[in-house]
Amino acid sequence: MSSLLLTGIGHLTTNDGDPVRDAVVAIDEGLITYAGPAADAPETEGREVLDCGGRAVIPGFVDAHTHLVFAGDRSDEFRRKMAGEGYQEIARSGGGIQATVRATRAASEEELLDLATERVRRMIATGTTTVEIKSGYGLDTETELRLLRVARRVGEELGITVRTTFLGAHTVAPDLTRERYVELLVDEMIPAAAGLADYCDVFVEKGVFSVDEARHILHAASEHGMKARIHAEQLTRSGGAALAAEIGAVSADHLDHATPDDAAALAEAGVAAVLCPGASYMLRGSQAPGPMLWDAGCTVAITTDCNPGTSFFESMAPIVSLAVVQTGLTVEQAIWAATRGGALALELPDRGLVTEGGVGDLVVLDAPDPAHIPYRPATDLTWRVIRSGSVVDGES
Ligand SMILES: [Zn+2]
Repeated sequence: MSSLLLTGIGHLTTNDGDPVRDAVVAIDEGLITYAGPAADAPETEGREVLDCGGRAVIPGFVDAHTHLVFAGDRSDEFRRKMAGEGYQEIARSGGGIQATVRATRAASEEELLDLATERVRRMIATGTTTVEIKSGYGLDTETELRLLRVARRVGEELGITVRTTFLGAHTVAPDLTRERYVELLVDEMIPAAAGLADYCDVFVEKGVFSVDEARHILHAASEHGMKARIHAEQLTRSGGAALAAEIGAVSADHLDHATPDDAAALAEAGVAAVLCPGASYMLRGSQAPGPMLWDAGCTVAITTDCNPGTSFFESMAPIVSLAVVQTGLTVEQAIWAATRGGALALELPDRGLVTEGGVGDLVVLDAPDPAHIPYRPATDLTWRVIRSGSVVDGES
């Protein structure tokens, strides 16, 4: 592995104190060995030098919540929803999540890998260097395992860090009663997913899984070595956040309907608050109380929630913009939440910051200040992506 020196950085976001102007970053063997003023920088000799020409540099984006392994196309459903058709009507005509489940069950592992690879390539090209991927469009043991294998393989093949989450409890399988499906999750699917998934997630929502069912499912997961994440308070106040705090989950996600009590409980229990502003936007729904969660002391992350039904975002940049303009985070909070917040929500303490010993994952922006990310939401400002100290060539 090589040595890379980034020089001429006009504005360096380290996520460790104030930004540094006129900065240099050195990366050796994939790890950051220097990040600071040019005046104290190490020698250029023996290193590949990338002159950033006054551009801004931020840590690579850490996208801590995605459902990017799926097949099928729901663009027509989007058209119908935007024209006013209701959720029930669409579900009755075979649309919604069950449409993705049918298409995904019918797809081979190689087909799913090709689809996921294209999506992750676009993510990397727009600055994402670490991604979490959930299963959840199989709802049977065989397909769920296929999705988790694809998630792992896409990481290995593209050289990006992937954390995997088993989300068999995304909704109830179409052919089973809820009781039978919860039994299947606990007795068969969770034991089978152990070893392929770092985490287990449950969609706690009115009409999906109750708090008691989620507690039962996540307890079984913990016995198989998978820590908990919870889809909580997305469409209604479901009690998922309180459960996340009670069981010490790693994250509570969405939180559009979280209350000040929820925020205090999450902060107290050290549960990351993972927000999905793209889903709020696409659903024309409520915004998560980002500033309230931040002020309560939660570790806040923002994510694409990349999925075919409610948030088909692959790039983090527009998410940063939504988090600022719609959710109400400051520019600095949103960029922190898209990088360091995501890393902490995935228990990767050496990511999402530019300090000595951190992993050398960076984005050089074609802009002088990172405020351009939320300020120019429709422009791809990615100039170079650096992954583990290597410049991504766009063909990897
Ligand atoms: Zn989700």
